[in-house]
Amino acid sequence: MDGGYVNEEDSDAIMGVESPGGQLKTKNGQKYVFNGPPSGVYVSRTCLVISAVIMLAALISSVLITYFLTSQSLPIVDTSPSAEAHIKDHHVDAATSPSHANATNLASAKFDIPDWLKQNQATTSSPEIAVVVPPVGDIPVIEEALETNTKSMDRPLQLFEGWRPQNYKIVIEPNVDSSSSNGSVSIEIERDPKVNSWEPIVLDVHNVSIANVRVIRSPIVNGSDEVELDFDSDYGDNNDTFIVTLAKSLATESNLRVLLSMDFVSQVTDTLQGIYKTSYTNPNTNQLEWVISTQFSPIDARRAFPCFDRPDMKANFTVSIIRNIKHKMCLSNMPRIRSSSHRTGYIRDDFKTTPKMPTYLLAFIVSNMVDSLYGNLDGGLMPRVEIWTRPTFVEMTNYAYKMVRQFLPYYEEYFGIKNQLPKIDLVSVPDFGFGAMENWGLITFRDSALLVPEDLELASSSEHMQYVAQIIAHELAHQWFGNLVTPKWWDDLWLKEGFACYMSYKALNQLYPEFQIMDTFTMLEFKESMQHDATNTSHAISFDVKTSSDVRRIFDPISYSKGTILLRMLNSIVGDEAFRAATQDLLKSFAYENIDRDDLWAYLTRHGHEKGTLPKDMNVKQIMDSWIIQPGYPLVHVERNGADLVLRQERYLLPSRNPLDHSRWFIPITYETDELHKGDNIPTHWMTQDQEQIVINDAFTKMNNSDNVLYLNLNRQSYYRVNYDMTSWLALKKNFSNLPTITRAQLLDDALHLAQAEYLSYDIPLTFLMELFTAMDDELLWSAAKPGLNYLIYNLKREPAYETFRAFMKFIVRPAFDRYGLHEPDNESHMQLKHRALVANFACKFNYDRCTQVAQTRFREWMRDPKRNPIKPNLKSVIYCTALAEGSYQEWYFAYKQYKRSNSASEKEEILTSLGCTTKPWLLSKYLNLTLNSTSGILKQDGALAFRAVASNAIGHEMAFDFLQTNIKEIADYYGDGFSTISEMIKSLTIYMNKEYHKQQLQALAANCRKLGLKAVEIAIGMAMEQVNDNIYWRTHSYDKLKGFLEGIVSEFEINIF
Ligand SMILES: [Zn+2]
Repeated sequence: MDGGYVNEEDSDAIMGVESPGGQLKTKNGQKYVFNGPPSGVYVSRTCLVISAVIMLAALISSVLITYFLTSQSLPIVDTSPSAEAHIKDHHVDAATSPSHANATNLASAKFDIPDWLKQNQATTSSPEIAVVVPPVGDIPVIEEALETNTKSMDRPLQLFEGWRPQNYKIVIEPNVDSSSSNGSVSIEIERDPKVNSWEPIVLDVHNVSIANVRVIRSPIVNGSDEVELDFDSDYGDNNDTFIVTLAKSLATESNLRVLLSMDFVSQVTDTLQGIYKTSYTNPNTNQLEWVISTQFSPIDARRAFPCFDRPDMKANFTVSIIRNIKHKMCLSNMPRIRSSSHRTGYIRDDFKTTPKMPTYLLAFIVSNMVDSLYGNLDGGLMPRVEIWTRPTFVEMTNYAYKMVRQFLPYYEEYFGIKNQLPKIDLVSVPDFGFGAMENWGLITFRDSALLVPEDLELASSSEHMQYVAQIIAHELAHQWFGNLVTPKWWDDLWLKEGFACYMSYKALNQLYPEFQIMDTFTMLEFKESMQHDATNTSHAISFDVKTSSDVRRIFDPISYSKGTILLRMLNSIVGDEAFRAATQDLLKSFAYENIDRDDLWAYLTRHGHEKGTLPKDMNVKQIMDSWIIQPGYPLVHVERNGADLVLRQERYLLPSRNPLDHSRWFIPITYETDELHKGDNIPTHWMTQDQEQIVINDAFTKMNNSDNVLYLNLNRQSYYRVNYDMTSWLALKKNFSNLPTITRAQLLDDALHLAQAEYLSYDIPLTFLMELFTAMDDELLWSAAKPGLNYLIYNLKREPAYETFRAFMKFIVRPAFDRYGLHEPDNESHMQLKHRALVANFACKFNYDRCTQVAQTRFREWMRDPKRNPIKPNLKSVIYCTALAEGSYQEWYFAYKQYKRSNSASEKEEILTSLGCTTKPWLLSKYLNLTLNSTSGILKQDGALAFRAVASNAIGHEMAFDFLQTNIKEIADYYGDGFSTISEMIKSLTIYMNKEYHKQQLQALAANCRKLGLKAVEIAIGMAMEQVNDNIYWRTHSYDKLKGFLEGIVSEFEINIF
C-alpha cells in the first residue's frame, strides 16, 4: 500500500479509498498524489481525533450557549457566529500546535512563494478545490516506514531525457518536531532541443508527498495572463519518480518552456542523508540544541524536494528557508538577502540565487551554532570566509581559517580563475557521514575534519593537523573542480575526486613543504588504491553506474586514491606546464557546464603536444583508456639480458597470478642505473597495451653489470609494481642505503606485496625489512613497511608462527624505539613527531616491554589526575591503545568517561579506537552494543570506526561478527544506507578470516541481507568473500614457508623469542 492523499471533503478518501497508482481525485477531478508508505490508519485516526475534538468543542459550546441563552435570554442569532468562530479558531490553534504545524505552514507558505505563483493561487483557489495538504503524519516515521526504507536501498537510476531545468525557486520549512519539511518548489524547465521525441517531465523523489501541481507556460509576458497548460501527473514505478505529462498538442513546440510548481512534504531524516536532524547539548543550559543540516550528495536531494537529481541537470537555485525564531543561524549556499517575519514565531530567510549547479551541491543549515567572526577581520577580502561551530568550539577554528586563507589564493593562481561565490561558510556539523562535503559556498565537515584545539591538553597530533589541512584543501579545490565544472555522470566521479585529492597534495606541497606530502603520497594513496585494486572483485575506476547502490559504492578508494594516482601519473607524462595549462583551459571552457574524461584527455593531449612532452604520434586517450576502463594494475617484471633490459607486464593479482587474465596496460617507463640519472619523471619508453614484453636496448654500457643498481618507476610516478630478477634484487640490497628515499620505500612495499602474491619468496622482503634495524630515522621506509606488516600481523596473530614473527620484529624495531622512546622533546619537526609515533606504534604492538610499560605508566598518571592529561598529542594513539590492551576494566571505564567528557573531536576519535583495544570480552561486547545506543555519546558518523576498533582486535573479531549477524536489521535501520556503514563494518571483519568456516559464516550473512533487501551490503560481502579466499590461499601456500624463514633468521641472529 502506497498511502493516499486525503481531501477533508471526501469522506471516502478519509477512509483511505485509493485509485490505482496511489492517487486520489477530488470532486472536480483534480489529482493529488502521495508518495510514501502506508498511512491510512494514521490519517484516519488523526482525522477521527480532530473530528472528535471539533464535535466535543461544538457540544461544549452548545451547552454553554444554551446555558448562556437560558440565563441571559439573548437571541440565538447572535451566538452562532461566535460558535463558528470558536470552532475555526480551534482548528487554527490545533494546526499550529506542534503535531499539526506543517499542514498550516505549507498552506501559508503558498502565499510567500514568488509573485507569479502567488497571483495564480489566489485566482484559482476555491472551496471546491481548496487543498488540504497531507498531514505530517503521512510521511513515514514509524516502524512500517523503516521497513520500507530498508527495502528500497537499491533502486535503478534511470536517465530521463527531453527536458532540462533552468531555475528552481524553493521555499522550505524543515521541522524537527515532526521530522518533516513542508515546502513549495517551482521549476522553470525547457525542452531539450537535442531530443526530438515528445517526452514527459520526470522528477526524482524519495519519500516525498506532492500536492497542488500546476504547469504554466513560461516566460510570463508582462501584463498578460498566465497560460495554464493541461497535464496529467502520477508517480512512476516504486514511487521513485513523479511524472508530469503535457498535452501531445504541445509536441510541435521545440523551444517550449514551462513553469512546473507544486507543494510537497518531505522527511527530515535521522540517517545523515537528505535533510537531516542531529543535536548536541548546550553546556550552558544543559538543553538539547537541534541542528537541521543537509547532505544531498550523491543522490539525496530527491529526499528533500522533487528535482532533476543528476549532476548534468545544472540550474540556478533561489532558496528561502522558514525557521522557528528560536533558531538563530540559517545558512545556504549564497548570502542571505533578507530576513522577514513569516508568521508569529517564524522567520523567513531569502537567499541570493546560486550560479548554475547540480542538485547535489545545494545545502542549508538551521541551528544555533555561531560564527567565529572572521568576516570582520577580512575587511574587503573576497570571498568572505566564516567558520561556524558550537559556541564551545569557536576557539578551535583558527587553524582552519588560516588554511582557507592560504589555499584560496594558491588555487586562484593555479587555476587562473577567481573563486566564483561571494562567500564561503565552513561548518562543523555535530554528526556527519562523510569527512566533509563541498557544497558550493557552504562546506560542511565532521568536527574532527575542521576543528583543531590549541589548548595544550587537547592539542592535535601532527597527523591530525595534516589531515585537517588536507581535507580543507580538498574541499576548496572542489569549488573549481566539481562545482564550477562537474562530471556528467557518476561513472566519472573519480574526475572530480581525483582532482580535488591531487590538488590538495599540490597545495600542501607548495605551502607546507615541511610536511613532505608528496613522499607520503607514494605510500598512502598507493596503499589505499592497490589494496582495493588487487583482487578479481575490484571495479574499473569508471564503471557503468546504474543503481543507487552503484552510486554509493563508487565513493571508494578506487575513485579517490586511484583517481589521484592516475592524475599524478598524467602530470608526469605531459609535465607540469602542460598539465596546468590543460587544467586552466578545461575549467575556462566548461565553466558552469559538465565534462567527461574524454574532454580532459583532449586538453591534455593538445598541451602535451604543444609543449613537446607527449610524442606527436600518441594521445592521452590511447594511454588512459587502459587504466580507466579495466580494473587492476600491472606488475612489470624486469630482467637483464646482457646490456639490455627485458620488461614484461602482467596483472598483479591476489591471491596469486592467473594465467587466464590477459589484462594489459599502456605503461610509461622510467628507470635509473648507476650510469643514468634522469633528473625528471617524463617517461623514456612505453609498453603499449598490445605489448606483453618490450626490450630496452643498451640500458647498461657493459655486458657485465651485475653490481650496477637498476630501479624502475622513478618516484613512483606510475601506477604499477616492479619485480626484478635476482641479480637486480641483490644489487639493490647491497646499495640500499645509497638509493633515493622513495625508491627505498617502494622496494620494501613492493617486495612485501610480491611475496604475498607468490611472485617472490619471503626471504627477500624479510631482508629488506631488516633495513629498519639501521635505517632508524627513515620515516618513509617505516611507513612503507606498515601495510605489508599489518597483513602479516593479522594472518599470523592467531597462529604459532606469531611467536617468532613478533620476536623478529621486536628485534628490528628495538634500536629505533630506544632512540626515540615515548618522550617528546620540544621543537621537533612535523616529520620527527610523526615518526616517533610510528616507531612507538610498532614497538608497543610487538610487545617491546620498554614501550608497553612506559605507556601504562603515562596512562595511569592521567588516571590519577584526569584534569591534566600528560600524554603528548602524537603519542595518544599508541599510549591509549596499549594501556587499554594491557590494563583492566578501570582503564577502559576511565577512557570511556574521558570520551564523554572531551570537547575535542580528534581526541574523541583516538579514544574510540582505543576502546576496542581491550582484551576483556565483556567490555568489547558492551562497546559494540553502545554503537546502537543513541544516548551512549557515540555518534552515527563514528559507528563504523568503533566497530572496526573491535573487529581488528584478535579477541574482539568473532564477537564483532556475531554482533553484526545478530543485529543486522537493527544496524541497517539505525545507520541508513547513505554512507555504507555496514559495508565498512564488513570490510573490517575480513582481516582475521582465513579459514573455510569463515566463508560459511559470510554466506549465511549474505543470505540474511538478501532477505532484507540490503543490496549494497550483499555486494560488500561478495568483496569480503574474495578477501577471505585470499587469506585462506595465503595460509595454505605461504604460511609454512614464512614460518621456516622466520625460524631461520631467529636462530641465525640468536634472537630471544620472549
Ligand atoms: Zn571530494
